Amino acid sequence: MKKVVKFGGSSLASADQFKKVGSIIHEDENRRYVVPSAPGKRFSSDTKVTDMLYACYESAVNGEDFSGQLEDIKARYQEIIDGLNLDCSLNADFESIRENFQNKAGVDYAASRGEFLNGKIMSSYLGFEFVDAAEVVRFNDDGSFNAETTNDLLSERLRNMNSAVVPGFYGAKADGTVVTFSRGGSDITGSLVALAVHADLYENWTDVSGFLIADPRIVKNPKSIETITYKELRELSYMGASVLHEDAIFPVRKAGIPINIRNTNAPEDKGTLIVESTCRQPKYTITGIAGTDGFASITIEKAMMNSEIGFCRKVLQVFEDNGISIEHMPSGIDTMTIFVNKSAFEEKEQKILSDIQRAVRPDHIELESDLALVAVVGRGMKSTRGTAGRIFSALAHAHINVKMIDQGSSELNIIVGVKHEDFKNAIRALYEIFVLTQI
Ligand code: ASP
Repeated sequence: MKKVVKFGGSSLASADQFKKVGSIIHEDENRRYVVPSAPGKRFSSDTKVTDMLYACYESAVNGEDFSGQLEDIKARYQEIIDGLNLDCSLNADFESIRENFQNKAGVDYAASRGEFLNGKIMSSYLGFEFVDAAEVVRFNDDGSFNAETTNDLLSERLRNMNSAVVPGFYGAKADGTVVTFSRGGSDITGSLVALAVHADLYENWTDVSGFLIADPRIVKNPKSIETITYKELRELSYMGASVLHEDAIFPVRKAGIPINIRNTNAPEDKGTLIVESTCRQPKYTITGIAGTDGFASITIEKAMMNSEIGFCRKVLQVFEDNGISIEHMPSGIDTMTIFVNKSAFEEKEQKILSDIQRAVRPDHIELESDLALVAVVGRGMKSTRGTAGRIFSALAHAHINVKMIDQGSSELNIIVGVKHEDFKNAIRALYEIFVLTQI
């Protein structure tokens, strides 16, 4: 059995955290391929090494003296090396980083050093071989990611290696120019390594015990989700729940490799298992509740709209021409409502309204802002009667007016639109009815 284990920044922020990681790896001999992030925050007001590198490089590019900033970064690593009693020196690496910063090697190169150096420490700590991601994760000349070549290079390189450390977050173009993924991108590297070695499991170790049923900033001590499908996860992440980089899902999903989100600080917790499909029934009818704030709606009314061919297309064209993405579109017989991101819409509001007037000559247009969307997601909803009924009675009991209802055709989710001021109460009411009272 092979497991790929990725550790996030907070799991590797200090020597003590490294020790926890070491015991997690040694506890299971299948944990053979390790993908580290850069050291993250040791306490809440701390700065991530990646952010220190961005700032340091900016000073270098501006021609300022960046030696103090680079020394601070070096100190972060030295603290880990000393705390682990390692016989490992990064002096030569820091010398070449200094030179490359002076020669303006690029912002991606700068940021990537966080993972590169942490990978070196990890390799020396575990005695696993170090594989520089620049040699095995390939980007095209235009900066886009090259999945095929990466998979060839990675699988070829790791084929005969029983264990290895591959730093996350970056790769390089064919000419060696370093390119990073977007922030949080070590998750993607973990997924690519899992695909390349045909791992049985991709464990993603972070500082929470998996996905929670609801946002802990809204619901007190929410329970965690034991098993979630990729589709459910997509619905929840769209609505704002984030633990994993979105692009980390595709490579492993395609290969049928499950992802297990685990907590480095509570390794006894099982975390959340993300799978393609499962016959495990969720504990509750719903898998999760998520929501986002900051929507506006535009309701367009016109008598006999339903018989006017091309009406919807013309309206949608207006939004497309103005570069505004449409989030939801519930409709009536003579009305259609368009939900959009409020801040994006506000900038072009008057132009869009006059374009709609011109395109379809409506009887009336009504705008509403400060709306929030709340999604109740769950594969269990399909086979359970009365879920919608319970949602609406819970909201009614909490005196919340429902502004919009949208049930996806997959019956995987029901989205309700509420006023901004009802947003948190709506989530609490739904959590209470589906989880606390367990019906
Ligand atoms: N260190 C990078 C960041 O802070 C990448 C990662 O941690 O996944 O975004």
